[in-house]
Amino acid sequence: MYDVLIIGAGISGLSAAIYAAERKLSVLLLTKGYRPDGSTNYAQGGIATVTSKEDSFEYHIEDTILAGAGLCKKNRVRILAHNGPQTIEQLIKWGVRFTTNPSQKKSKHFDLHLEGGHSHKRILHSADLTGKEMMRALLLEIKKHKNIHFLENSSIHELIVQDNPKRCIGAQIIHQKTGVLSSIYAKTTIIATGGAGRLWLHSTNPVDSTGDGMAVAARAGVALQDIEFMQFHPTSLHAPQLKKTFLISEAVRGFGGILKNKKGLPFMDTVHPLGSLAPRDIVAREIHKEMEKTKESNMYLDCTHKSEKDLQKQFPNIFAKCLEIGIDMSKDWVPVVPAAHYMCGGILVNSESKTEIDGLYACGEVAATGVHGANRLASNSLLESVVFAIRAIQNIIKTKQNEITFSVPQTTPQTVNLSESKYWKEKKITLQTIMWDYCGIVRNTQKLKTGLQKIRDLEVDIDKYLSKNEVPNIHFLSFRNAVQNSKMIFQSALKRRESRGLHYTLDYPHKNKHPKRNRIYLNS
Ligand SMILES: Cc1cc2nc3c(=O)[nH]c(=O)nc-3n(C[C@H](O)[C@H](O)[C@H](O)COP(=O)(O)OP(=O)(O)OC[C@H]3O[C@@H](n4cnc5c(N)ncnc54)[C@H](O)[C@@H]3O)c2cc1C
Repeated sequence: MYDVLIIGAGISGLSAAIYAAERKLSVLLLTKGYRPDGSTNYAQGGIATVTSKEDSFEYHIEDTILAGAGLCKKNRVRILAHNGPQTIEQLIKWGVRFTTNPSQKKSKHFDLHLEGGHSHKRILHSADLTGKEMMRALLLEIKKHKNIHFLENSSIHELIVQDNPKRCIGAQIIHQKTGVLSSIYAKTTIIATGGAGRLWLHSTNPVDSTGDGMAVAARAGVALQDIEFMQFHPTSLHAPQLKKTFLISEAVRGFGGILKNKKGLPFMDTVHPLGSLAPRDIVAREIHKEMEKTKESNMYLDCTHKSEKDLQKQFPNIFAKCLEIGIDMSKDWVPVVPAAHYMCGGILVNSESKTEIDGLYACGEVAATGVHGANRLASNSLLESVVFAIRAIQNIIKTKQNEITFSVPQTTPQTVNLSESKYWKEKKITLQTIMWDYCGIVRNTQKLKTGLQKIRDLEVDIDKYLSKNEVPNIHFLSFRNAVQNSKMIFQSALKRRESRGLHYTLDYPHKNKHPKRNRIYLNS
């Protein structure tokens, strides 16, 4: 039996695994796809941390809380900011290489970027491929540890929770190549399955980011919190010819990129003192508004006042991707459009990443640590992922969870049907369209109610299928998780009768006086 079962191998799962293995815990690490998968690999901009003498923890805390629109848990934000520098040290020890600039002596030679909502330059980065660099280093690092067992192509099906005392003792896992569904027992389980952006039709997230971790946790009886707060990134590249959505990092606006409409009007200048670098919720909403007003399919990011040399140096990956579709950033405006990007809410955890059930932890994007409140400050999520992954392991060791014993029930492996299913894949697109149309950037009560009803109609299909099929199809199971999450998101959004942070509804355009968090249980 493993000391720690970690579900998900992005930055949070990998950090937890390495930190645990260094402390002699035995680890089983699972990932749904092949390494490197998950959102981490796509992160461009960087990781926010105070390293400059001109900056301070207080500024970082203030900026985070301001962006969070009244719902951040202040003690968690403090933990985040204060743990920043040692987290960077830890990542460097694990082999992550950040871009340096010898002239920046005040920031220990780190080349710092500025992003939306940050009052100071504090974004450490590895060119514009920060996530890729982190995955490279951490995937190499885990190879050094014999006590980490890594299983790819393995997807969580359900958590195993015993009664009296209630405790998570592992998970049922689908081995996606064989279809075998088996039980894996562990003294502690950490859910690190990433976000849920792919519940929406247009998203910057990889295909597996549909919130499986939230779905299994909710079925196990754990609360989700503030899941109505989906952050729409204002600037994904508008290029229908590309198969995958591509992000134009906020760092490009930090570098001086200006948002304009087709006529060249810098429409953000009259909306917010920070102009194009205003917090993401505000920018995404204004782009949406401007698109509706002008009936255009996208807005533009103008970087043509910057030299080709500088743009290529700072953003080699973004520059190359734009060229691929015939856009030279130094000469042409870049067409951009908002897309679902980051789930601010998730599985409710305490300050040490523990859920409401003993033995069960969550970290990374799937967890609601309370750090982001109603709107995440750019580049805080990679930091949060590592800080709270480490805290989970520290809690496991501190409370001697790895010394706990329990008897393991006898189970026989089952199977799932692995055949391709056009039907459930198409249903998933229907669901994503419902989320985009009825639970998007600008909401209203009627739209939310209609969307919820449409989700309930999809549930009827699910029930029918379950009554007829003993061996479920793997695409059906993924769809079922997505429907359950979407339903809970609609319910949570309907409960919030105000506009706050990322939840903007025309029927309640103002913030309530007293900010409230939305805790939600399945079927509550
Ligand atoms: C395009 C893009 C750019 C971004 N840029 C930045 C940035 O510059 N700075 C920043 O701070 N944040 C950024 N973010 C957000 C940040 O990348 C994520 O929040 C963070 O990487 C999440 O890490 P994670 O470990 O929680 O999840 P992920 O990296 O998403 O990893 C999730 C893991 O869980 C696995 N998994 C999923 N479902 C299952 C299942 N059912 N069973 C088993 N395993 C499963 C996946 O296979 C994967 O291994 C960006 C996100 C995107 C999409």
